[in-house]
Amino acid sequence: MTTAPVVPAPAGEPRADTSPVLELTTLTRHFAASKGTVRAVDGVTLTVGRGEVVGLVGESGSGKSTVGRCAVRLDEPTSGTVRINGTDITHLSRRALRPLRKDFHLVFQDPSSSLDPRMTVGQIIAEPLRLHGIARGRAARERVAALLRQVGLRPEYIDRNPHELSGGQRQRVSLARALSVDPDLLIADEPTSALDVSVQASVLNLLADLQRDRGFGCLFITHDLAAVEFLADRIAVMYLGQIVEVAPTAELFAAPKHPYTQALLSAAPVPDPVEQRSRRRIVLSGELPSPLAPPPGCRFHTRCPVAVDRCRTEVPGLRALPATAKARQVSCHLVTADGAAPNAAAPNAAA
Ligand code: SF4
Repeated sequence: MTTAPVVPAPAGEPRADTSPVLELTTLTRHFAASKGTVRAVDGVTLTVGRGEVVGLVGESGSGKSTVGRCAVRLDEPTSGTVRINGTDITHLSRRALRPLRKDFHLVFQDPSSSLDPRMTVGQIIAEPLRLHGIARGRAARERVAALLRQVGLRPEYIDRNPHELSGGQRQRVSLARALSVDPDLLIADEPTSALDVSVQASVLNLLADLQRDRGFGCLFITHDLAAVEFLADRIAVMYLGQIVEVAPTAELFAAPKHPYTQALLSAAPVPDPVEQRSRRRIVLSGELPSPLAPPPGCRFHTRCPVAVDRCRTEVPGLRALPATAKARQVSCHLVTADGAAPNAAAPNAAA
C-alpha cells in the first residue's frame, strides 16, 4: 500500500507560543491494591517540544503507558502537573477540558478496541470534527475523504465498518481520526505492536511522514528500539516508574550512560553484521521488581551489574550532564558530570 502525499489540514495563524506542547512535572500515579500501593509512576519530569518526537521506552511494567494515559487525563495523576501548550490541565474538570481536547490525542496499541464497531469509518473520523464544531455534513465528509487519502486509504473506505478492515488499515483510521482536528500533540502508545510484522514498518513510515508534514509534537511510547531509533529526536528510558536517562537519539544509541540503558540497547539488533557479532549482550539477573515494593536507593540496584554500596541506600536523582549535549540527563551515582559512565558489560573494569 502506498501513502498518499500528506496535505496539511487547514491551519490557523502560526503560533507565537514557544512553550513545549507537553510538560510533565514530577508526575506520580499510585494505585491502591489489596497488597499495598502500586507505585506505577513516581516523579516523572519530561517535556515534548513543538514538532519534536520524544520516545519513551522501557520494559513492560515500567509505567510508560500510565505516563501516556495521565498526560491526556485518561488516568488521573496522584500528584505532579501536566501542562499542554502551557496550560495546566492536571485538575481541570471534564467540562473545562473538553475544548482543549482537540489539541492532544492518544493513539492506542490495539485499534480493534479503540474504534467503535457500530460506526462507519467516516463517522469515526468525523466525530472529533463534529464534537469540536469544526465541520459537519458535506464539509466533514470531504475532509474525511482527504484524511483517508493522507493515511493511504482509498476514499471508498468511508462507508465501511472497522471489522471489514485489516489491523494495519484500522490503525490508519485511528491516525486519521486523531489528526482530523490538527492536534499539537499526539501520544502514540505502542501504535504498531498489535499489528502483523509485515505492516508495522508501513504504519511507522506513515506516522513519520505525517509528523514531519504536520509538525505535531509526539510522545512515542514503545518497547521497540528500532522503531524509536527511526522516529524519535530524543529518548527517555523508564525503569520501574522512573526516568533513568534522557538523551538525543543518536547520542543515546552511540553511548548509553545508564547501566540499564546499556543493557536494554545491548539486546537490540544492529544492521551491521560485523558490529552485531562483536557486541556483548548484557543479560540482567532477576525480574523487574514489583512496583508494590520498589527497592530502596537506586531502584535498579538489585539487577545492576556495577552497583556499589551507596546504590542500596542513596537515591540517584535525574541530573543534567553539563559537559554533554544540553538535553542529556541520567540518574546514576557512577556517571560523572563530564559524562564518564560505568560499563555494565564489563563490571570489573574501572569506571
Ligand atoms: Fe547501578 Fe548504582 Fe548507577 Fe543505580 S546508581 S544504575 S545501581 S551503579
